[in-house]
Amino acid sequence: MKYLLLQYALYFALATIGATYGLHRYWAHNRGSRKVWFEWVSLICALFIGLYKPLGWVAAHRLHHKHTDTELDPHSPKHKGFWKVILSIWTPDMPASVIRDLVKNPRIKFMQRYGKWFIIPVILISPLTVLFGFLGIGILNYFGHKDGKPVSKWYINILAPFEGNHKDHHE
Ligand SMILES: [Zn+2]
Ligand SMILES: [Zn+2]
Repeated sequence: MKYLLLQYALYFALATIGATYGLHRYWAHNRGSRKVWFEWVSLICALFIGLYKPLGWVAAHRLHHKHTDTELDPHSPKHKGFWKVILSIWTPDMPASVIRDLVKNPRIKFMQRYGKWFIIPVILISPLTVLFGFLGIGILNYFGHKDGKPVSKWYINILAPFEGNHKDHHE
């Protein structure tokens, strides 16, 4: 039990830096001033929650904002089934047009290229943070939308830190 709580606390920190403020705010929405150290830290934290291909997540998320709850939204629960939403962040083919500003970034390039080499060791070192990451992204993408609209749900925050206000985020 103590191990589980420690892993959860670790996951919460990794997901806050890697997913919420890293891939989501900083990389997908270009928030905050450019900082090389934060780029490394955020990408490494993202790796430890299983997001080893940053551009896949960023592209899916940008398309999600651009085409929210339409056929073109890669993870609209209304148009795709449960599993398609849950697995969407690993969809390999994303249009390059939505990530053009990031493909030349050396940190991104490194992770796109070599991230897959680290994922097996990461799973061996820290299986629970990877599992929580998988569930957290799935919960955000699936429960953050209902009946073709974004919604805010407090429980999203349990595994997707500070992302429960998803409706406000879209607005
Ligand atoms: Zn967003
Ligand atoms: Zn959304």
